[in-house]
Amino acid sequence: MFAFVFTLIVIWLAMWAFFKFMYPKPPKEFMPKKGDVTTPRDCDSCGYPLAEYRGVTEAIPQAQLTEADQAQVAELTTEVEAIRQQILAYEASVNDKAHQKGLTRQQKKQASTQYEQLQKQLFEKNQQLKKMSSWFFCNYDHQADFHANRPK
Ligand SMILES: [Zn+2]
Repeated sequence: MFAFVFTLIVIWLAMWAFFKFMYPKPPKEFMPKKGDVTTPRDCDSCGYPLAEYRGVTEAIPQAQLTEADQAQVAELTTEVEAIRQQILAYEASVNDKAHQKGLTRQQKKQASTQYEQLQKQLFEKNQQLKKMSSWFFCNYDHQADFHANRPK
């Protein structure tokens, strides 16, 4: 009986070691950290969609944006700020115990649904804003290629 259990443990250990060796975990810096944007974004050089946190973002100089783009960036910035204010207001109201007491369960639920939608909107607007005001590349090589091939 003991030999049988022992054999099982040895087999299990051998398999564990095998899988550990075959599928090493990627290094920490490749794993997304809290706050990293994991949605794919297309490289401006080769078009490959890469998780945003793994690529290189470069702000587009203001002078390179058309007037229409600048206007849209300004508009998006205002919208992002407005959403952020609403989120802050909600967070303040959640911490306000007296205010919370006056709410029905349904009102609380509605508020929290709205809060989730605001978070989503904020994320989407921020992504839109980033796409308008920055370039994105898989890596520094693609960034260099992009600038080398751009008409001067
Ligand atoms: Zn690329």
